[in-house]
Amino acid sequence: MGARTGKQYLEGLQRTRRAIWVDGERIEDVTRHPKLSGAAESLAAIFDRQHEFAEDCLVPDRETGELINISHLIPRSRDEIRHRHRGLVRLSEGTVGLMGRTPDYMNMKFSGFASAPWVWAGADNRNEVGAANLVDYQKRLARDDISLTHTIIQPTVDKRTDTAIVGNQVTIRKVGESAEGMIVRGGRVLATLAPFADETTVYPALPIPPGAEDYAIAFAIPLDTPGLKFLCRDSLSAVGADGFDKPLSSRFDEQDAFCLFDDVVVPWDRVFINGDVEVYNSIPQTGFVINMTTQSTTRALTKLQFAYGLATRMAEMIGDYSPATTEMLGEIACYVEVTRSALELSIEQAFERPPDGAWFPDGRPLDPMRALLAMWMPRVAEIITLIGGHNLLTTPTRRQLDDEELRPLIDEMLHGADATSAEARSAVFRMAWDFVGSGLAGRGFLYERFYLTSASRNKQMMHNLAADRTRPAELVDRILGL
Ligand SMILES: Cc1cc2nc3c(=O)[nH]c(=O)nc-3n(C[C@H](O)[C@H](O)[C@H](O)COP(=O)(O)OP(=O)(O)OC[C@H]3O[C@@H](n4cnc5c(N)ncnc54)[C@H](O)[C@@H]3O)c2cc1C
Repeated sequence: MGARTGKQYLEGLQRTRRAIWVDGERIEDVTRHPKLSGAAESLAAIFDRQHEFAEDCLVPDRETGELINISHLIPRSRDEIRHRHRGLVRLSEGTVGLMGRTPDYMNMKFSGFASAPWVWAGADNRNEVGAANLVDYQKRLARDDISLTHTIIQPTVDKRTDTAIVGNQVTIRKVGESAEGMIVRGGRVLATLAPFADETTVYPALPIPPGAEDYAIAFAIPLDTPGLKFLCRDSLSAVGADGFDKPLSSRFDEQDAFCLFDDVVVPWDRVFINGDVEVYNSIPQTGFVINMTTQSTTRALTKLQFAYGLATRMAEMIGDYSPATTEMLGEIACYVEVTRSALELSIEQAFERPPDGAWFPDGRPLDPMRALLAMWMPRVAEIITLIGGHNLLTTPTRRQLDDEELRPLIDEMLHGADATSAEARSAVFRMAWDFVGSGLAGRGFLYERFYLTSASRNKQMMHNLAADRTRPAELVDRILGL
């Protein structure tokens, strides 16, 4: 089939009879329910967008020649990484970076996974079948243009004992086998995009200890697999609101769901790891983390650029050229430029991995972005709030603007500086409030703080695993004369 259109994507969602609840209600058709339809349409527009910008977003499948989304590509050169970058930028622009889980996010992880079947196979090729299943699945993901969600985090029960895992009777684990497949039971957080996905996957995140074989599992299954249930968080979609009033929350509530596996049978050909702790813990060697951070940093850059544009427009509309505001705008510009430079450097320093010829961006400029962006995004929201002040709330609605009695008064008393009309001013400040003050805004900043785990954990990982301490140590030794 190859890359789908938005219409084909929506038809696929309608065919999948998933067990999903939003605000107490089980939703049958996620494309038409008012709490979900806005985001479904935005995602459909992303599928159309890949055709609109086909030169950047699509690439021929190396085996079949059919056009697939470029996020599935396993690059073989720096030029292909550049091409992919252009495609990822185009896709992120479709939601101005506000939807973190457009399907390219998971596509990039799976292209990283599939670039290294030798990692999945493990020592002595003992997981050869699981590795082959993974490679076949990645091809299907690309050729059927599947929208994929995922859960990798165990539910919190008791932080004193959760990390021990062995014996945990809450998180997902293997509880049996049948002729049809592996039987799994337990909960998992947090499937962003669940209402808008065709399939879901479970794969390794944090390392697990020896003896945790039942927890060492990886697989992918369709969302309508019996026993699979999703409890969405409260809807933040602006149901029934005019797009002018809620320009972001009417479109971009991608949802997040707690995932319950109630004795789910995972067909054997969908099992990638079955009880092998060593293979499970080795999956980061596939390079998927670089791919993930490449996509997430590209998406975040678009969001930062959008925020910079929005904050600048706000300041101009109220004639705010004060040193304080200019400094804060400059602060966002710094975040934009550092993020852009990190991406550019990662591409410039892209490398070929010797065993298999797969190319990856350099992960070193990207590693710090996982911690920094989790701190910068909340700061950007604070800056927009500080620039906006009360202006974020003196924003007539579409109906107030259309009211014949009110409109002349609004035009007279709520216009902005330099001939900014009341309507234009309201549009921009309503957008700003939807960006920093609405329910969707709150969820957006929770997302930025945690979706790649917290800044705190990422800083620790930076120090313990990623940072090169050789030269820093040499400098200290040299000045000490050691
Ligand atoms: C909006 C949203 C969407 C998400 N979507 C998905 C998804 O699609 N799929 C998925 O699998 N997961 C998803 N997640 C889950 C996400 O992966 C986790 O939230 C993340 O890994 C952090 O785990 P946690 O929430 O348990 O917080 P923790 O990591 O436990 O952190 C909680 C607090 O404790 C602190 N802390 C914890 N451990 C340490 C430590 N060792 N040192 C110092 N401080 C520490 C943190 O700094 C933080 O302040 C999503 C989360 C959110 C909020």
